[in-house]
Amino acid sequence: MGEQATRIEVHKFGGTSLADAERMGQAARRVAEVATSARVVVVASALAGVTDTLTRLGAAAAAGDRQQAQHLVEQLSRRHMEAVDALAAADDEPLRLELERLLGEVWAVAQGVLHTGELTPRSMDRMLATGEKLSARLLAHALRGQGTAAASVDADTFLETDDVFGEATPLGPVADRTMAARLAPRLDRGEVVVVTGFCGRAPDGATTTLGRGGSDLSATVVAAALGAASVTLWTDVDGIFTADPRLVPDARVIAQLNYREAAEMSFYGANVLHQRTMIPVAARGIPVTTRNTFAPARPGSVVDGRFTPGSHPVKATTAVRAHGLLSVEGKGMAGVPGMAARVFAALADHGISVTMISQSSSEVSICLAVPSDQSRRAEAALKRAFRPELSRGVVEEVVVRDQVALVAIVGLGMARTPGVSARVFTALARQRINVLAIAQGSSELNISLAVDEVDVDRSLRAIHEEFGLHRRDTGQETAGALDVLLLGCGKIGVAVADLLADAGAGRFARLGLDARVVGVCDRSGYLFEPTGIAPKRLARALERKASGEALGEQDGGLPGSARDLVRHALGYRLSRPVLVDVSDAGDAHEAFGEAMALGCDVVTANKKPLADAAAVFADLMTLAQESGRVIKAEATVGAGLPVMDTLEMLLAAGDRLTSAEGCLSGTLGFVMTRLEQGDALSEAVAEAVRLGYTEPDPLVDLSGVDMARKAVILGRLSGLAPAAEAELSGLVEGVAEDGPMELDALVRRLAQTHDGPMAAAVADAAAEGKALRYVARVSAAGVRVGLESVPLDSPLGQLRGTDNMIVLRSERYDPRPLVISGPGAGVEVTAMGVLGDILRVAAQRS
Ligand code: ADP
Ligand code: ASP
Ligand code: MG
Repeated sequence: MGEQATRIEVHKFGGTSLADAERMGQAARRVAEVATSARVVVVASALAGVTDTLTRLGAAAAAGDRQQAQHLVEQLSRRHMEAVDALAAADDEPLRLELERLLGEVWAVAQGVLHTGELTPRSMDRMLATGEKLSARLLAHALRGQGTAAASVDADTFLETDDVFGEATPLGPVADRTMAARLAPRLDRGEVVVVTGFCGRAPDGATTTLGRGGSDLSATVVAAALGAASVTLWTDVDGIFTADPRLVPDARVIAQLNYREAAEMSFYGANVLHQRTMIPVAARGIPVTTRNTFAPARPGSVVDGRFTPGSHPVKATTAVRAHGLLSVEGKGMAGVPGMAARVFAALADHGISVTMISQSSSEVSICLAVPSDQSRRAEAALKRAFRPELSRGVVEEVVVRDQVALVAIVGLGMARTPGVSARVFTALARQRINVLAIAQGSSELNISLAVDEVDVDRSLRAIHEEFGLHRRDTGQETAGALDVLLLGCGKIGVAVADLLADAGAGRFARLGLDARVVGVCDRSGYLFEPTGIAPKRLARALERKASGEALGEQDGGLPGSARDLVRHALGYRLSRPVLVDVSDAGDAHEAFGEAMALGCDVVTANKKPLADAAAVFADLMTLAQESGRVIKAEATVGAGLPVMDTLEMLLAAGDRLTSAEGCLSGTLGFVMTRLEQGDALSEAVAEAVRLGYTEPDPLVDLSGVDMARKAVILGRLSGLAPAAEAELSGLVEGVAEDGPMELDALVRRLAQTHDGPMAAAVADAAAEGKALRYVARVSAAGVRVGLESVPLDSPLGQLRGTDNMIVLRSERYDPRPLVISGPGAGVEVTAMGVLGDILRVAAQRS
C-alpha cells in the first residue's frame, strides 16, 4: 500500500468467486492490485456450497445420523485442504493446523447435537460461521503468498449484532466504533484485513449469522463503520439484472440503481443482494458496485443515491416464492376503524412478518402475504384475534391460499409515470395469468402483486417484455444525460448541433444536464452512437453531408429511414431521449409515433407532421397521451418567437384562447411592404428571391401553403380548432397550376397577369384607410388564410417588412389582444426555438 493511501475500499467475494484455489488466487490478485492505491478490507464468503453442506451437517446431526455427519465433515476437510495444496504456498503448515482446528470445532458442535438430538439456532450459527472462517484464512494466506500483507479477522469477535440467531441484525453506531477500533490499526499498518462475512457476535458473545447471503450485509456494515469510499461485491454475474437472469433469458444489467430501488429488489427476491445490504450505506452515500469475478473488465451495476429515471419508469422485476396469502373478509368491516392495525398487531405478537398487504378500497377485505412456513400460524393468530367479530359475522372468514408468489415491479421513475399498473395487468391478462392481490407502496417505487407460484416465471417474462427491459443498456444512463436523435441535417440541423455542442457550459448545465446527439439521419440513412456522437465527429459528418456525401454513405453510416433510426436507437436504454425533427420530411409523423411509443419525447421544427390530415394529428395526440410523452413545436410557428410557449402558459393559468390572427410569413410580409411603397408585385417577388427570403421555389411562399401549415398547427395545438384543416387562397392565384418555372418566367408571368390587379387592390385598401395583408385567422370555426384589408391602425396594419406577428385574443386578453412580433424566420432563430423546446422537455423530465 502506498504511504498516503487513506481511502478505504471494501471488497466482498461471494462463494462462487472463491470456489477453489484458482479463483481464490484470482481474487487475491485483484485485491493486491487495489491495495496498491487504497486500504482494503476484504469480506469473504464461504467457498461455494459450503454453507449448504454445513446446513446439511446440522440436519444430519439433529436426525442422529452420525455416519452422514462424519462424512460431511470429512468432505469439508478434503475440499479445504485441496485448496491449500493447490495454492502451493510455502510454509502452509500453520494454516493446515488452523483449518483442522476449526473443523474440529464444527465436529465438536455436531457431536453435541448428535448427543442431545436437538439443533438450536445458536449451535447452527456456530457451525455455519465456520464456512467463512475457513475461507477467510485461505484467502489471507493466498494474499500473503502473493506478497501482500494480510490477516484474517473473525467477525464474531467484533461485529456486534442482536441475538436473533440465523437472522441477526448488526447493532448501530456503538458497534461501529468497536469495529473501527478493531480494524483501523491493522489498516494503518498497511495490512489487508480479511473479514469473515455472514457472521457476527451476539451480546452474550455467541456467534450469530445474518441470514443467507449475509456477507453482502457484512460488507456494507464494515464499510459504514470505517467510512469507506466504496463497496464492491464480486459475484458470478455481470451485475444487478432487470430480472433474475436464470428465469428471464433477456434480462439486462442495470448500470445504475438508487439505494431504494436495490433495497426493494432484494426485499422481493433478487437474491443477488442480501435484503438489508443497503441499510448501512444508504444514509452515508457509500456506493455499492456489483461486479463479475469472471469478467472483471465489465463495469457492473452501481447502487448509489442518484435517481436516474431515463426513459424507463420501470427498472426491474423480481419475485419471491413460498408465500401464503391470507384474507380477512367481511362486509361488516367497511368503515370499522383500526381493522388493518389489528391484523398487523395480531401477527406481530406472534413474530410473523408480513411481506405484503393490500386492502380493497371498499374495505371489505384485507389481504396479506406471509412466508409459507408461517401461514398456518398466521391463520390461527388472526382467527383468535377476530374471534368476537367472526362469531358476530362482522368478519365472515379468514381464508388462506398456499403456494403463492409475490412479483414486484420496481423503479423510482414509476412515481411520475401514470398507467404503469394498468400496463402490468394488461400484460398479465394477455398471458391469462390471474392476479390474486395487488399492493402499491405509498412511495410508488414498487408495485407488488400476488400470483400462484406456477405462474411466476411467465409473469416475470411478461412484465419484462411489456416494459422493454430487455433493451440494451449503454451503461451511460448517467443522471444528467439527455439524448437527442436529430432528423434532418440541413442548415437548421447544423445550427442545432452547434448549439447543443456548446450548450454544456451554460444552458443545460444549469439544469444539471449533459445533452448529446446520439443519432442523426437524412434521407439516405443515419449515424448512431448510443453513448453520443462526439461533437467533432458530428460536425465533420454534417460538413461532408453539406458537400454532397449522404450520411448513409459515410463511414459508420447505416442505411435506413428515420423510423429505422428511432427503432434502432430506442432499443438502447437512452436517457431522456428526444427526437428533434429539423427536416421537412412529409412522413416524419411515422417516426414521431414510433418514438413516443418507445418512450421518447418529440421536438419539431418540421411543420408537415402536425399539419398533415386531421386524423394523422389526432393519432399523434392520442399516442402522446397514452405514452405520457410530449410533442413540442415552437419552431413551427414563428421560428424562435415564443408563441406556443406563451399559449401554453396562458392555458395553464386557466385562460382560454378565443381567436388568433397573424402574418406568419416573412416573405409575404416583405412583399406587402414593397407593394405599399409602390413597387410592382413582380419586382417585389424578384427582390425577395434575390435577398434569399423565399423558399427555393418562391411559389411555396406565394401559395400560402407554408403559412397555412403554421396556422393549422396553432389551431390544433392550442385546442382552439383541434381538427382544423386550412381554407386557403394564395397571394397569387392561377400560377402554381402552370407547374414549376424559372424565376424569370415567373416574374414575367406575374407582371402580365398580377401586377395590375394587385396594385389596384393595394390602392383600394389605402383609400379606405386600410392596409392589404396576407393573414391567417384561427378560430373555433377553423383556419382561414388569404389576403385581407385590415385597419391601418390595427397591430397587423402596423406591421412592416419581414417580421412576423401573431395576435392572440383570449378571455383575459380582451378587448386588447396579446401581440407577439419579431423576426419569424431564419436559421439562427429557428435553431434557438428548437433548443428552447429541448430545454423545456429536459426540465420536464428532470
Ligand atoms: P454470491 O455468492 O456472489 O453472493 P449469489 O448467488 O448470492 O452470489 O447471488 C448471485 C446470483 O443471484 C446470480 O447468480 C443470479 O442467479 C441471482 N439473481 C437473482 N436475481 C438477480 C438479479 N436481478 N440480478 C442479478 N442476479 C440475480
Ligand atoms: N455463505 C453464506 C451463504 O451462502 C453467506 C453469503 O454467501 O453471503 O448464504
Ligand atoms: Mg450472495
